[in-house]
Amino acid sequence: MESGGFDEVRAVERLQALVRVPTVSRLDESQTEWARFDEFIELLPDLYPETHSALTREVVAGHSLLYRWAGREPGDPAVLMAHYDVVPAAVDGWEHPPFAAEIVPTEHGDVVWGRGTLDDKGSLATILEAVEALAASGFQPKHDLYLNFGHNEETTGGGASAIVDLLEERGVRPRLVLDEGGAVVEGVFPGVGDPIAVVGVSEKGILSLTMTVEQEGGHASTPPRMTATARLARAIVRLNSKPFPKAFTAPNLEMIRTLGARARQPFKWVFTNLWLTRPLLLGLFTKLGDETNAIVRTTGAVTQLQGADAANALAERAVAVVNVRVAVGSSVAEAVAHVRRAIRDPKVRLDAQYPNEPSPVSPTHGPAWTLIKETIEHTYPGTIVTPYVMLGASDGRHFTRISANVYRFSPFQMSKAERGTLHAMNERIRVSTYLSGVLFYRQLVAGL
Ligand SMILES: [Zn+2]
Repeated sequence: MESGGFDEVRAVERLQALVRVPTVSRLDESQTEWARFDEFIELLPDLYPETHSALTREVVAGHSLLYRWAGREPGDPAVLMAHYDVVPAAVDGWEHPPFAAEIVPTEHGDVVWGRGTLDDKGSLATILEAVEALAASGFQPKHDLYLNFGHNEETTGGGASAIVDLLEERGVRPRLVLDEGGAVVEGVFPGVGDPIAVVGVSEKGILSLTMTVEQEGGHASTPPRMTATARLARAIVRLNSKPFPKAFTAPNLEMIRTLGARARQPFKWVFTNLWLTRPLLLGLFTKLGDETNAIVRTTGAVTQLQGADAANALAERAVAVVNVRVAVGSSVAEAVAHVRRAIRDPKVRLDAQYPNEPSPVSPTHGPAWTLIKETIEHTYPGTIVTPYVMLGASDGRHFTRISANVYRFSPFQMSKAERGTLHAMNERIRVSTYLSGVLFYRQLVAGL
């Protein structure tokens, strides 16, 4: 079956082949099965021969891949990104096995079932399909095009960061960077019936904040009035009852205006008269749900707790880890200061680990944004394209060091149920949306 200039059957088979290599990322890299990553790297030239003859490839930081397609003329390059590591998949609970890449008929048409189909081998495969078809047709990009495929996005992101170091050293300043992130979604914004393509123009910052209480130990039969664990618990409760300040940032407001213009009444009126409705709307966002709340403020969640080693000993050291996601417009220092004020206790020590500031906001005007927007509108007619702030983290954030135009968008239509399978069981991608993704990248690359 040939359509749109590429072999759809082969395109699906190639995605299946990629999913069948279990390139599972583990935070403790000594637990990672690197042989699988080597296998994946070796598989690519067999699957995409035209790409591997037209582009050069470097392996960076052990297993991350950097491809360069030399342009016809000098000029700032573009970078397309994806990652090929996946989060672990338990064997139990999957309706179809996670690494078999079975094709399963559903009410939405055929799907490819398996870990990594959406996050993020689907993107990697669509990029390579697009490049493969263009290379086979004799196309050469106007300016250099880089493909960046990370090997540890799900853990440390060290691969992408090392690639940025390398490009920085070489004086490369990309005029467009596109990584995974938003998608084409439906029914998420009140009053808007059309599908919405959310394109990440920034992402929240992240840090692990440890709260530590140290105290003299002793036997649990004669406890002091305030134990280390009780002090720590009090700090957690105080933090929980004092949310971080709420605010709409510039990308939030642009999203509300963009979607509001296409909403039905009375939503349209509410979303387009922000001069009047803004405070009301801000309050509403904090109450509507956990996701809208996370959009308008920094959040902190205690994820790990640690006390004494024995059931009958007092803890000499009690530790809680707060996973903090820092809102755009705020900073790591502001977030830590808020926690300090909220817990009101100098005996609780705070240490910020792995701090990452929120990313700078990429513009929603200019050639990079316009190309992405128009390509989405062409691929998914009737879709509203809007900027948004990504709540999670992507490898793309490393590129903000060398580019002002970093965007985060996966060219796939995802239902609420499908989005729920990210990092969970039964991850799958519709064959139809996967093929649309190939068309998206083909048009994007041709337009660069
Ligand atoms: Zn991902």
